[in-house]
Amino acid sequence: MTLREIVTLPEPVLRRKAKPVTKFDKKLQTLIDDMIETMRDAPGVGLAAPQVNVSEQLAVIEYAEGEDEDEEVEGAQPKPKKLYVIINPEIIKASEEKVMGIEGCLSIPGLIGEVERHEMIQIKALNRHGKPIKLKVDGWMARIFQHEIDHLNGVLFTDLSKRIWKPTAEEETPLD
Ligand code: ZN
Repeated sequence: MTLREIVTLPEPVLRRKAKPVTKFDKKLQTLIDDMIETMRDAPGVGLAAPQVNVSEQLAVIEYAEGEDEDEEVEGAQPKPKKLYVIINPEIIKASEEKVMGIEGCLSIPGLIGEVERHEMIQIKALNRHGKPIKLKVDGWMARIFQHEIDHLNGVLFTDLSKRIWKPTAEEETPLD
């Protein structure tokens, strides 16, 4: 596996609508493994292919549900992280309820902002072997999925945010 370079604005690939993946070959498997390694190294909770300069509909996400909740229970085991690989994803259902949260992006270093997202979404996609999958996610996980799917359409969180600022040292935000 190889670490890939994460591109940042104003790299044009970040603004392009990515092409659907059609070949589930060895080259794709290598790209997926590289993206997982690059996401973990960053570290980030998600990474979309355009962020490593590949204009294809592919994203990886790794996050432990409940990580955003402040529930420090003594002796509690850390929640296991879940890894998702989504290809050609499509949002098929979204909750009417929206929630505000603070996002950052590995491709826009030094800025964070408030973004309103659907609290729950259902998506259909293909897994890394081209098999159809359906997922229902909510909370922070749903936010990460929406952030990544936006990347595949050339949309960045700064397009949706009404308030953007430079984070202070205490403001830690999961990046993707
Ligand atoms: Zn991002």
